Amino acid sequence: MQQVFSKALSFIKENLIILYSISLFILIPAAFFINNYIINSSYEKNIDLITQRKAVLAENIIKNMVQNQISDTAALQSSVNRIMQENGDIILLSILKPQNAQEEFEIIASSDPNLINQKPKDQIQNLLAWNKPEGIAFLDRNTDGRFWKVTKSFSDILNQKIGLIEISFSLKDSDALIEKTIYKSNIILILTILVVVLLVTNQARLIGYVWTTSKLKEIDKMKDVFISMASHELRSPLTAIKGYVDLFQTKKDLTLDQDANHYLKNISLSVERLDNLIEDILEVSQIEGNRLPIEMSVFNPAVIVSQSIEEMRSQAIQKNLVLSSNLFQTPVQIKADENRLKQILINLISNAIKYTKKGSVEVATDIKKDKFLITVADSGIGISAEDQINLFQKFYRIKNKETEDIIGTGLGLWISNEIIKRMRGKITVESIKGVGSHFTIHIPIVKK
Ligand code: ADP
Repeated sequence: MQQVFSKALSFIKENLIILYSISLFILIPAAFFINNYIINSSYEKNIDLITQRKAVLAENIIKNMVQNQISDTAALQSSVNRIMQENGDIILLSILKPQNAQEEFEIIASSDPNLINQKPKDQIQNLLAWNKPEGIAFLDRNTDGRFWKVTKSFSDILNQKIGLIEISFSLKDSDALIEKTIYKSNIILILTILVVVLLVTNQARLIGYVWTTSKLKEIDKMKDVFISMASHELRSPLTAIKGYVDLFQTKKDLTLDQDANHYLKNISLSVERLDNLIEDILEVSQIEGNRLPIEMSVFNPAVIVSQSIEEMRSQAIQKNLVLSSNLFQTPVQIKADENRLKQILINLISNAIKYTKKGSVEVATDIKKDKFLITVADSGIGISAEDQINLFQKFYRIKNKETEDIIGTGLGLWISNEIIKRMRGKITVESIKGVGSHFTIHIPIVKK
């Protein structure tokens, strides 16, 4: 039992949105219902009070009219009839006279002819009203609905109590109005519940999406863990192969014929290719999952530019290319991830060397407005205007006679472009097919 409870609790904790839906479902109609109840009951109370006051007021007026007619019952009856005609709210009006030393009362005029000359049923009530100067008032109900009954004594000009006026005011109209209001608010309540049900169903669909998204996120995380684990596992044997190939190539007492040397070179190249591919796939997965670590800092880029050129020099020499530089001398400060910027620059220099058969590669730095520019220019195969449009797409490789022997994944430029965007910079390209290419990194300068 406890287990089920704690399971339910942890499920709700993880999916707070469900709790929100349930509370929405209960709270909105409840708030509406309570609001209706408060408004209706205070409305009813007010109407009751108004009617009661009205009855007392009417009684005071009637008292003055019948004061002088207590002994003339015919005149009294005609006054009662007239009052009844003029006031639609009054449902019963009777004038009572005390008898037997004010112990009992008799109805001497009434709007109900059957009551004339009769003794009222409730003599105690009349006695109570007789003895209380402010009279008595109470709410009662008959087959016609609720009414206020007010009984009060009245006096002659010498201030001697001479009789009782009993008046009943109907609450029929106001009760009908209240009933109508309650009916309307109930309809609105039902509509509100319907809207809430619709909202909650929609919410349920949203919960479904949230659930699927969280599952997808989990799968994505698992994929990420798998890729990083797989790349690590793949790299270990690759490093071993690389090491043994190096040993073969450098072992002094081992003489290898031309073919064997050629094979070893091919193995070495393939290993390097595989290594780069693994690294690229790892980065693609991190970029797509928005999990590529970027550590921004403010620094002078001159050092990493020089370092990158030096690291690529041996590759340029191997291809008989001149790797030169033309660097901006004034120190500047930029905000970027130092290692990632170096990674991008090395990728551009490596491409320049890779896609240049003869000639040179030049790395130049400059300042333009508030940007620091690093341009890698080569005298290589160049890129047509058409290919330039797709250059930064994932896995895009230009396929022609000049590129068919060059190894690559088509991921380098896409990765570089994604990284530079995360550093608020950009990469632009200018190229003429057969003449060469200029790739430029633009990075915002930090103003002092
Ligand atoms: P890869 O070099 O691994 O194929 P990249 O994303 O780095 O992938 O480059 C995409 C394509 O752009 C390359 O296949 C190549 O055709 C072209 N390219 C990149 N740099 C140059 C360059 N400096 N000169 C000519 N073509 C280039």
